[in-house]
Amino acid sequence: MSTQHKSLRRLTDLGEFGLINKIKKLAGSSSEVVCGIGDDTAVLSHTSKMYRLLTTDMISEDVHFNRTMNFKEIGFKAMNSNISDIAAMGGLPRFALLSIGIPLKEKLRNVDELIKGISQQAKKFSIEIIGGDTIRSEKLVINICLIGDVFKKHLVRRSTAKAGDKILVTGHLGRSYQSGRHLTFIPRVKESQFLINNFKPSAMMDLSDGLGNDLNHLLKASGIGANIFEEKIPRHKRVSLKQALYDGEDFELLFMLSPQKANKLKKIKSKFFFKEIGVCTKGKKCQLFLEDGTNQIVVFGEGFQHF
Ligand code: ADP
Ligand code: MG
Repeated sequence: MSTQHKSLRRLTDLGEFGLINKIKKLAGSSSEVVCGIGDDTAVLSHTSKMYRLLTTDMISEDVHFNRTMNFKEIGFKAMNSNISDIAAMGGLPRFALLSIGIPLKEKLRNVDELIKGISQQAKKFSIEIIGGDTIRSEKLVINICLIGDVFKKHLVRRSTAKAGDKILVTGHLGRSYQSGRHLTFIPRVKESQFLINNFKPSAMMDLSDGLGNDLNHLLKASGIGANIFEEKIPRHKRVSLKQALYDGEDFELLFMLSPQKANKLKKIKSKFFFKEIGVCTKGKKCQLFLEDGTNQIVVFGEGFQHF
């Protein structure tokens, strides 16, 4: 047995992204796949003007929610986390496949509430539920596969940010789980539509694993670095810098704008919240400038990981 095999015996040694990279190596190279593993959604050829977007997100009892929480809101979360990924590509959601694993003793009232939450969000965002799967499971698990569309000219990816671009977010960060915001957040579809129609970002993604982790993914995909500034990072009340950087499930958009577009956006009055937090740089370093005047090179990768 090689040393590598000896030292990588558990899933925790590999990590969530180590596992995803392993799976990525098995991916094919069909010409219809515009974008496979690595962005917020997969992108497929569709019509002459549109791409089709596909994403799937699974949430599970005792990992993403627990039984003390409101079942209708758990339904919101299941749907909205997927919608957030479609918004991150500049698209609009269209169709959903809904799969549920339900414990044998689950109360019908809970299942009804859950479905109510899911269908309420589906209606709100004009999504048609077109199928799914239902199984018995030890714990409650919900998986939604969401299909969306995007005009080819509106598609925004993670890999296209450039040095000099400004880095922005659509909202305040941190303590999403503790505060309950992870259940009730509004996916930033309106913000995404406003941006792609008026200030098309050079890159974008949604924040599900913490700014530190997710920014790192985007920078890596784009092959650049960044300088970000502690005092500019919008945080919810009672949120530490560490929590703003490394808590997951903010579901805000992280996006990059050319300096010209960022300047224009600053000057116009918009009903949305956009906050500049830094700038993209050449090289691979991501530096965080602290309020005390010192700077530190951020060793990213401490955000939420499932393993
Ligand atoms: P997001 O937080 O935007 O949903 P993830 O961090 O979950 O994205 O996943 C990153 C990328 O890896 C995405 O492109 C996703 O489709 C892909 N991915 C995640 N898990 C798997 C898996 N089990 N098999 C194949 N691709 C996966
Ligand atoms: Mg995402």
